[in-house]
Amino acid sequence: MKIEHLGIAVKSLAGSDNLFARLLGKENYKQESVEREGVTTSFYEIGESKIELLEATNPESPIAKFLDKKGEGIHHIAFGVENIFSEIERLKKEGFIFISEDPKEGADNKLVVFLHPRSTNGVLVELCQEKP
Ligand code: ZN
Repeated sequence: MKIEHLGIAVKSLAGSDNLFARLLGKENYKQESVEREGVTTSFYEIGESKIELLEATNPESPIAKFLDKKGEGIHHIAFGVENIFSEIERLKKEGFIFISEDPKEGADNKLVVFLHPRSTNGVLVELCQEKP
């Protein structure tokens, strides 16, 4: 595993894209909506990892709910894995709980699943694998 990206919930990509472009000294390399998840994402490369900014596209979006509860900030850590299916099996045997055990198509050409924060010290953990 490596840290593939950090997800950061933001109120407005318009404002935050400007902020992160100035902070990192480079533009995002991609902006992409995942309608099923109710998010628009914006990706920045930093070394081997990335920052994923997440903006809600509707009030029912998990990001909208996160912003209501906690405000802007770090939303999840994503670990990049070679084989998401074998990692799910391994972590289930270790007693971890998944929000859903079926990998879904996420942003940035990935298959993704999320572990439930109650089994990971309150941190929302994403596993992601590059789509073949
Ligand atoms: Zn993510």
